[in-house]
Parts: sequence; structure tokens; C-alpha cells
Amino acid sequence: MSGRSVLITGGNRGIGRAIAEEFLAAGDKVAVTTRTGEAPEGALGVAADVTDAASVGAAFTRVEEAHGPVEVLVANAGITRDTLLLRMSEEDFTDVLDTNLTGAFRVLKRASKGMLRLKRGRVVLISSVVGLYGSPGQINYAASKSGLVGMARSLTRELGGRGITANVVAPGFVRSDMTDALDESTQAKYLDSIPAGRFAETEEVARVVRWISSEEAAYISGAVIPVDGGLGMGH
Ligand code: NDP
Repeated sequence: MSGRSVLITGGNRGIGRAIAEEFLAAGDKVAVTTRTGEAPEGALGVAADVTDAASVGAAFTRVEEAHGPVEVLVANAGITRDTLLLRMSEEDFTDVLDTNLTGAFRVLKRASKGMLRLKRGRVVLISSVVGLYGSPGQINYAASKSGLVGMARSLTRELGGRGITANVVAPGFVRSDMTDALDESTQAKYLDSIPAGRFAETEEVARVVRWISSEEAAYISGAVIPVDGGLGMGH
């Protein structure tokens, strides 16, 4: 299965960029949202901020004009604002929820229209091991990431009979700008607790996202697929 219209949010860098490259290599028509930066070569870059429904709507219109209705949606855009609960401001909490969870809702709602008309679609929500494992200093982030599980499972129940699957991919510690920003002692602590004894590369997440979006995975929906070197023990 190739040549599908694929849209990935936050595809200019990190895991999103690797996912875009993976679908490009499989021969799909790939578009990525770029709030800043550039799309990878071969992908269509569309400016969008997932916290702004109007910019999401405009981005979808551009993608539909260029590639047709979105058949594979990967909600990847995400941020962290880590701090302990007592220091966490309401803004730290709502900003993270607005990007990671409501942002996914905005793109999902827009994508579902085209998928319903096509009577097929693949939705992949990029969560985190932290969503089900918990993490001190990440109450906002963990809440946003576990919320994606309820979103995928509800979507599965709502649209599963229309040829649409919705799954969550939950990476562990992946080398990217997000994790490079953590201090060395935090990185060492994570490394100690990962059975695989190493961090993941972005491509290892990307390959799983492509597979869960493939025909081979047509009967998998509402699942949480860990890509975490055993850290969450499958949750
Ligand atoms: P990066 O910080 O490297 O990249 C984040 C991406 O999200 C960037 O493209 C960024 O765009 C985009 N983004 C952030 N806010 C918005 C917004 N409001 N609108 C549109 N795009 C936005 O992170 P990663 O690649 O590491 O993470 C990607 C996803 O994977 C995230 O959801 C993250 O939570 C998740 N994840 C990451 C893990 C890791 O270890 N790295 C582990 C588990 C999950 P811009 O460049 O403009 O800022």
C-alpha cells in the first residue's frame, strides 16, 4: 500500500521528521505541518500551529488540494513544560494540554471528515511511555499523553465500523531536541531503568508508525504500542 495522502504534525524535526521520511521512502504523498523550520525533501510543508483551529483548517485545505483527502494522520506535535506540581503554573498545565491533547483533537476532527467520505483512514497519536507510567515533574505532559489513549479508544468505538483505525504509539526515551534538553543526571537515571540499555533513535519510532498505518495492521485499533526498550513492560 503506497501513494496515500499522509499528514504528520510537527514534521520539521525530531520524531515527526523521521516519520515523514519513512512514509516518503514507502512511496506515499507526505505533507507535514511546520510551525517553524522546513519540511524534509520530498514532503509538502504547510504552516500550522496545532493550538489554532483556523491554521489547522487552512493547512488541511492545502494538503487536500495537493494530495487529496488525508488517509493517514499522525498527530505528533508536542511540547513539555516540566516542573514539580507545587511549582507548576496553570499556564504550564494548559499550554501543554492545548498543544499535546487539544491539538490532536483539532487535527483529528478535521481529518475525520475526509476519512468518513473515503470510508477508510489511519490515525496514529504519538503519546509517551510517561502517559501510563507517570513521571515526577511531568503532571501536565503525562496527563496530556494518557488523554490520547482515551481519544484513540473512543475514536475506535465511534468510527471503527467505517474502515478507520486509531492507535497510540508510546515511545520511551528517544534521542531528539526534546530529550537533549534534559540534564545529564536525568538522562543517566532514565538509561538505568531501560531494559534495552540504550535510548531509541527516531527511525525506530517511525518504522512502527508506518507499520501500524499499513494494510497489515488493518485489524489493530485502540491499541497502545510501546516503543520503549521495555521501560513500560507493555503497560
Ligand atoms: P521535538 O521537540 O524535537 O519536536 C517537536 C515537534 O512538535 C516540532 O516539530 C515542533 O515544531 C512541533 N510543535 C510543537 N508545538 C507545536 C504547535 N503548537 N503547533 C505545531 N507544531 C508544534 O520533539 P520530539 O520529536 O522528541 O517529539 C515528537 C513527539 O513525540 C512529541 O509529541 C513528544 O511528546 C513525543 N515523544 C517524544 C519522546 C522523546 O524521547 N523524544 C518520548 C515520547 C514521546 P517547532 O519546530 O516549530 O517547535
